[in-house]
Amino acid sequence: MDERWPNASAQAKDRPVRPADGAGLSRTILHCASRGLSKTEFLHEVSKALMGFSGCDAVEVRLSHGELHYRWEAARRPEPGAHFELARWARGPDGRIVPASREPTDLERLCLDVACQRFDSSQPFFTDGGSFWTGDAWERVTLGAEPEPGAKPKTLCVGGHYRSLAIMRFVVDEATIGLLHVKSEHPNCFAKEDVESYEGIAQTLGLAMADWRAQYALRERVKELTCLYGIAQVIERGDTPLEEMLHIIVNLLPPAWQYPEIAAARIIVDDHSHVTPGFHPGRYQHSAEIIVSGRQRGIVEVHYVDERPEFAAGAFLEEEEKLIAAVAREVALTVERKDAEEERAHLQQQLIHADRLATIGQLAAGVAHELNEPLGSILGFAQLARKCPGLPEPAARDIEKIVTGSLYAREVIKTLMVFARQVPARKVLVDLNRVVEDALCFLEARCAKVGTRVVRELAAALPEIHGDPAQLTQVLVNLVVNAVQAMPDGGTLTVRTRANGSAALLIVEDTGVGMNEEVLGKIFLPFFTTKDVGEGTGLGLPVVHGIVSSHGGSIDVQSRPGQGTRFEIRLPAAGLEQVQETGQNGDRG
Ligand code: ADP
Ligand code: MG
Repeated sequence: MDERWPNASAQAKDRPVRPADGAGLSRTILHCASRGLSKTEFLHEVSKALMGFSGCDAVEVRLSHGELHYRWEAARRPEPGAHFELARWARGPDGRIVPASREPTDLERLCLDVACQRFDSSQPFFTDGGSFWTGDAWERVTLGAEPEPGAKPKTLCVGGHYRSLAIMRFVVDEATIGLLHVKSEHPNCFAKEDVESYEGIAQTLGLAMADWRAQYALRERVKELTCLYGIAQVIERGDTPLEEMLHIIVNLLPPAWQYPEIAAARIIVDDHSHVTPGFHPGRYQHSAEIIVSGRQRGIVEVHYVDERPEFAAGAFLEEEEKLIAAVAREVALTVERKDAEEERAHLQQQLIHADRLATIGQLAAGVAHELNEPLGSILGFAQLARKCPGLPEPAARDIEKIVTGSLYAREVIKTLMVFARQVPARKVLVDLNRVVEDALCFLEARCAKVGTRVVRELAAALPEIHGDPAQLTQVLVNLVVNAVQAMPDGGTLTVRTRANGSAALLIVEDTGVGMNEEVLGKIFLPFFTTKDVGEGTGLGLPVVHGIVSSHGGSIDVQSRPGQGTRFEIRLPAAGLEQVQETGQNGDRG
């Protein structure tokens, strides 16, 4: 019997709602929290249990957490389904939290009163615990006056699709208050004791939500740590190439985010992009820059490629912001380490190269020195013998051959000595353009003979260099001869000078046969040649290398089979050169 709601007792016998076993329902609800469900899945399960248990037509859960209000509704009809809504509310002038963009409805006002426990339990419509209930929401609900004396009674219109309505408050934690609405299309579905048993269930729901949240947060942290652990493992296996590492890392990201099924990730490092399968940029994304030695080298991004109603409150968790930053830092450290390894390997390579050149240089110099004297005697005596009167014709011819051979050998030895820097340079201030012009004067004639077009582009203002004009001419001659030989069917030879900061550049470019990697790796080794005997000695480029090194310069070579070759020689301006006195040091580039 209920005195406060006159129709309740009359209807109670045939009302469809009869909460009989609250304890069983409470257990079901608590169990939902520990099943690893998402928020909407959790609410769905809880609503289903509530509807099945009570026979009501709809269940609504409202949660307010600071300025955020969630509303969840699951209804039996028109078709079984659920609706999730999230809105940002703001504090109104009277200090109450109200919808940010519109006036609150009567029902929302009532909800606020129940949530804030503003009720008068002497009124019908309220239980002692402060829950609201009505057997006919289509009737206007007239509440008593507010506590202030003289205030008028409030009349609210809370009706909608449903006629029986009960609203129970529950607590999730200090910052989150919830309301459980139980609704039926039939009037007078609840007795007061039903509502009081729903109050207990609402409290259980509050506990279950707190539990669900804690477990959800824990699961998210485990996912994040799993991701970081995976990354640490990849990085620890130091021998994996960077590209492969980034490929593995990018695929570790989506599972660590709240909604892995719609998450996609991209890592960009130095214009190389690594993406998860099916990646396309989404409307919701966050990112962190990859900073290596103070310079941005790339970015880590996580995108959501689909919508979720929860995104209105921000798509990404605070922990996810921290996670993406941590990933970017790890990637940056890896890139830095790989850079250092590459640099070390490169230096090592250069050292080995320089060392080999130096050893060969010393050997060559020693041999040249040893041969020089006997060769001088051979040449001298041959020349004397040639002058002997009455020499038979065949003998004169043989002696002539000895002289020519010796002269050739002397040239080779001289070149070797230049390579080994046994011939002292006579350095003066030189204008590289002058050297190039003088040399080209006689080289052009040779080029024209074999059908090579010569293009010269000399810079207007070049820094002067401190060098030996004869040796620099030798450099140009050797490069041009090689270029011409590389263009047996004609082509274009471009000789260029350029100012580059405090250096003068000499560039010799051809459109000839080019070189493959293997040849390119050996061109500065003395006696390395791909030419037939008599055409090449394999000393041209070693000599170029020796001269350039003794001028404190460097060489950069670019070549592709079938596409030509480009030699760039960098000579520091006078006063700025740091000549390598030991070993052959120049950069093959
Ligand atoms: P050589 O010319 O006597 O062979 P070099 O030291 O001048 O010796 O050159 C070594 C090798 O480098 C050449 O045999 C050739 O294979 C390669 N080379 C040098 N310059 C060029 C070029 N411009 N184009 C193609 N190959 C070149
Ligand atoms: Mg040559």
